[in-house]
Amino acid sequence: MTQSFSSFTPPTRILMGPGPSDVYPEVLTALARPTIGHLDPKFVDLMDEVKQLLQYAFQTENSLTMPISAPGSAGMESVFVNLVEPGDKVIVCQNGVFGGRMQQNVERCGGQAIMVQDDWGKPTDLNKVRETLQANPDVKALAFVHAETSTGVLNDAKALCELAREFDCLSIVDAVTSLGGSELRVDDWNIDAIYSGTQKCLSCIPGLSPVSFSERAIAVIKQRTHPVQSWFLDMDLVMGYWGQGAKRAYHHTAPVNSIYALHESLLILQQEGLQKAWERHHRNHISLKEGLEKLGLALLVEEKYRLPQLNMVLIPDGVDDAKVRNRLLNEFNLEIGAGLGSLAGKVWRIGLMGCGSSQKNVGYCLSSLEAVLN
Ligand code: PLP
Repeated sequence: MTQSFSSFTPPTRILMGPGPSDVYPEVLTALARPTIGHLDPKFVDLMDEVKQLLQYAFQTENSLTMPISAPGSAGMESVFVNLVEPGDKVIVCQNGVFGGRMQQNVERCGGQAIMVQDDWGKPTDLNKVRETLQANPDVKALAFVHAETSTGVLNDAKALCELAREFDCLSIVDAVTSLGGSELRVDDWNIDAIYSGTQKCLSCIPGLSPVSFSERAIAVIKQRTHPVQSWFLDMDLVMGYWGQGAKRAYHHTAPVNSIYALHESLLILQQEGLQKAWERHHRNHISLKEGLEKLGLALLVEEKYRLPQLNMVLIPDGVDDAKVRNRLLNEFNLEIGAGLGSLAGKVWRIGLMGCGSSQKNVGYCLSSLEAVLN
């Protein structure tokens, strides 16, 4: 018997978890515009604009700056499969879930991941990184997560990239949650390879991963002795499609409407200005923190390492984690995140990302939490 289905109408939620964040209405409107061919000259012009807007968002002049047609995990993979060859040593800093994924990527490329471990909720210890670099003069790259979404910690990307330069290795940065929300300067900080996601502080739809590679990283890719094991993520091939000036060659069919959406969200970021966007994320984080304190709730991370766009709230003793989150979702249409890994059941993750970083959301979240906790 054929089952009958009908069109899906999602509930209207307020997304204040670890992502996706709420999407700008203008972005949803852009998404719904008519699809055109991915090699249509008008679309090719749009691709060029997206590259330039991404260069602004990343603060870089890297010509190899573009969105991978897949989510942040594919951006992560694109960086590792292109830069790591069998036998390469990579130092990976881990203080949460996503550093662990970097390790797996290195190992799946046949490389050796040398781990610098720090407690979840604490930043990466620069002294340990220095000692590890000193002990391993032959490492190819230093990889770390700028904004650790699983713990709400902002690692010191500038200082870590300085260390990578001092020891003459590449820097690989996960900026999935930091792009658009925290200070990030790819050129000034000498970042060699970086990937992000569209569903966090850009307030775009999920499913694209902006990446950028420095000239130094490109030189390393060009000197590879093994072919990149992923056909789809081989940057040499992808650049034939996204490359500057040269005639575009078909590589894959770009997600045309998603690119409209990304273009619109990057325009909004450019119109606000990066500096102002970073400041807004910080301001709203402070007012959320003050409101939480009034409710008797504390944050996990020490003040100077806190990620403004993702607040780790310690769940008070005796409070049922899942029950609170379910009531917020069902009665207030408000999504907040659960803790991951060793922090599961111990924290809530409250996101203030992109257009969701607003006084309105701070107020709504605090009053809803207060009602549920009472
Ligand atoms: N890296 C970090 C820091 C993340 O927070 C995430 C997703 O939350 C990812 C990587 C993976 O991104 P995606 O879920 O878009 O594949």
